Amino acid sequence: MATDGKVITCKAAVAWEPGKPLCIEEVEVAPPKAHEVRIKVVATGVCHTDWEYLFETGKGMKFRPFPLVLGHEAAGIVESIGPEVTRVSPGDKVIPLFLPYCGECERCLSPKTNHCKKNWTNMQAGVLADGTSRISCKGQQVYQFLGVSSFSQYTVVPDTSVAKIRSDAPLDKVCLLGCGVSTGYGAAINAGKVEKDSSCAVFGLGAVGLAAVMGCKVAIARRIIGVDINPDKFEKARQFGATDCINPRDYSKPIQEVVVEMTGGGVDYALECVGSPAIMNAALESTRDAWGTCVIAGWTETETMSISVEKLLMGRTLKGTYFGGWKSVKDVPKLVDDYMNHKLKLDEFITEKLPLVQINKAFDLLKSGKSIRTVISLQDS
Ligand code: NAD
Ligand code: ZN
Ligand code: ZN
Repeated sequence: MATDGKVITCKAAVAWEPGKPLCIEEVEVAPPKAHEVRIKVVATGVCHTDWEYLFETGKGMKFRPFPLVLGHEAAGIVESIGPEVTRVSPGDKVIPLFLPYCGECERCLSPKTNHCKKNWTNMQAGVLADGTSRISCKGQQVYQFLGVSSFSQYTVVPDTSVAKIRSDAPLDKVCLLGCGVSTGYGAAINAGKVEKDSSCAVFGLGAVGLAAVMGCKVAIARRIIGVDINPDKFEKARQFGATDCINPRDYSKPIQEVVVEMTGGGVDYALECVGSPAIMNAALESTRDAWGTCVIAGWTETETMSISVEKLLMGRTLKGTYFGGWKSVKDVPKLVDDYMNHKLKLDEFITEKLPLVQINKAFDLLKSGKSIRTVISLQDS
């Protein structure tokens, strides 16, 4: 390509400081170094984690440096590759990933986990393997959120954090497999291992929660109870397979007591998709003693939960999931196939499409509860 080996000047939404809206800026994106891939980002979803990091920084999430480019749920096309990259070629359709998969380490070789630690420390710190970011603005280094930074028309990621996907996949849909949908779906399928004819409760019906509902439905759960304080989410939850929808604000007693009564003793599986320790406890206490499983998908890096030990002694299991347990680079192409084969829904999650210049509106829609996922078109703006 004509841009191979050169710095690319393009548009990105830069977060200059916490708590302030994003600014559309001209940024410079350096060429990829060894084991790096430069991607032309075509579409990106806007996830709760992006919002939370910007507006609640230091509260639910550990501090990461500013200025930075957020965005971690995207799809695009490889523009160029650095030396020693063998997994992808220019022109390939790809999904960049915040969770690596090197394919060689003890964790990648184990079926027990998807937590590959390749480049982990630097990606969490917003830089690539050499300790620097490839994005700069006005002469200043701009950090890469979770090593991805998809709110930019171009970005550079490690070759262990990019999944090559089939050439007929629509990028403006499959971008959602870069985070929210894979997380919720995998929380039910991989972490919970939801069984046929079981009863489930899903707390929080945003993209992650709806994907969890979808996972319970694919697992042929008998009863799927959706829980949200925003009743506008219920219609969509029913479309995804929820059999009952309840609003904690409609009851004078704790919601876990309501779920236990509705199910004659508690659900087999509860999936927490909000990110609040109080709701994590409610989810755990909604499960049946003896064998109930509670899976935490909601994200908090700083808060702790206090659990009644007796709840666990009686046989419940409490577990968390990162990226739904999927081995990122290896499994995401299979999820794309599942979408193309109509096994997995994606279109139904998309409530809005906006150009990059309107990215702050996507945050407003997310926070007001009016959207499930807004997809940003990077190249239209
Ligand atoms: P979202 O904001 O779209 O959805 C959250 C939902 O929770 C909303 O519908 C909201 O009304 C509901 N809610 C809020 N308070 C509630 C309460 N007290 N009781 C019941 N429902 C309540 O967010 P999302 O993008 O779907 O993400 C959900 C969570 O998952 C976030 O914490 C996000 O950071 C996390 N997440 C985790 C991973 C992971 O790898 N584990 C990946 C992506 C997102
Ligand atoms: Zn996310
Ligand atoms: Zn690995």
